[in-house]
Amino acid sequence: MEKCPAAGRCGGCQFQGVPYEDQLAKKQKDMEALLGGICPVLPIIGMKEPQGYRNKVHHAFGLDRKGRIITGSYEEDSHRIVPSDSCMLEDPVSRDIIAGIRDLAASFRFSVYDEDRGTGLLRHVLIRRGFKSGQIMVVLVTGTPVFPSRNNFVKALVKAHPGITTVIQNVNSKRTGMVLGDRSQTLYGPGFITDEICGLRFRISAGSFYQVNPVQTEILYRTAVEYAGLTGNETVIDAYCGTGTIGLCAAEGARRLIGVELSAGAVRDAVSNARHNGVGNAKFFKDDAGRFMAAMAERGEKCDVLFMDPPRSGSTEEFIRSAARLAPSRIVYISCGPETLARDLRSFVKKGYKVQKAQPVDMFPFTGHTEVIAKLSRKDIN
Ligand code: SAH
Repeated sequence: MEKCPAAGRCGGCQFQGVPYEDQLAKKQKDMEALLGGICPVLPIIGMKEPQGYRNKVHHAFGLDRKGRIITGSYEEDSHRIVPSDSCMLEDPVSRDIIAGIRDLAASFRFSVYDEDRGTGLLRHVLIRRGFKSGQIMVVLVTGTPVFPSRNNFVKALVKAHPGITTVIQNVNSKRTGMVLGDRSQTLYGPGFITDEICGLRFRISAGSFYQVNPVQTEILYRTAVEYAGLTGNETVIDAYCGTGTIGLCAAEGARRLIGVELSAGAVRDAVSNARHNGVGNAKFFKDDAGRFMAAMAERGEKCDVLFMDPPRSGSTEEFIRSAARLAPSRIVYISCGPETLARDLRSFVKKGYKVQKAQPVDMFPFTGHTEVIAKLSRKDIN
């Protein structure tokens, strides 16, 4: 296997140069060490072609020693940019567009954001591509709202890369590690892309969470829906629902779906996704998931099935306590942070749940991350 030129400097791949089979074996072993004391761990589901899988590509802008514009990822634990033109994880179509943006930016003589001084125009570029729909979103993150020759730049960009379906300017003038700022403006196209998972179409905005590996996402969601064991009568909660993807894939088999999510943009996407897919039994709420569950429990409500897919930091005691009061017979916990999953599963066991199994899915080949999906059921009924 060829070695990446950025290996050892870029913070992206922990398994650079390691054969894929060995990566899977290592992840399996780690998951068994973490979760084996709690439940059986099924063999990890890997990818047939574990390269170029990322549908979201993010580069930061910088300058090389000669003052030429470069883009790439940050060196581990620093803000030095490592040019990553031949990254094996990134979607090659998106990489080509980024190279085009770099060339155009040079010909328009754009400045690059300087983190120390807080001045300059181009800060980050983010490309999202719907692998099934082919739609492409370009988000240019600028350090200032003023963007000289903006219309001409966008025109030239779309002419050079006609596959681009929407271009957005996001303004981030804060000194922060966050990529996106609060303000966005659509410069071309509808301001979002759509993509297809499990036969449904989803709208994805610049700031909404969307799984980065569409091939494995389909496997993940199908497994989640299978674990839910729906019969058509259930009240289902999709907590930390993002754009509503998991819940909407399950809604057809349920009586009603309630989704909760903190990001207002993602909730707007979820509502639109329900409507465009003709799902009439779903409602989405913008709230902290723990607070929302606590309020439901206070009102004496119940649910039958709970999907939960929290960020890497995991869920909270408030959420788990309230979830137990809503008394779902099955919980499907989707996790991108196996350490916090182990912690939360132990809390659920104390609240009267049994963890039946955990299924690792390799969503992030060549990196040290592993996604795991766990099935829990209430001890008193199974
Ligand atoms: N299930 C979705 C999203 C999972 S990512 C999918 O598969 O696409 C986790 C989501 O949790 C993100 O959308 C994030 O905005 C949301 N989130 C983070 N903290 C939250 C909180 N305290 N309450 C509700 N949602 C939260």
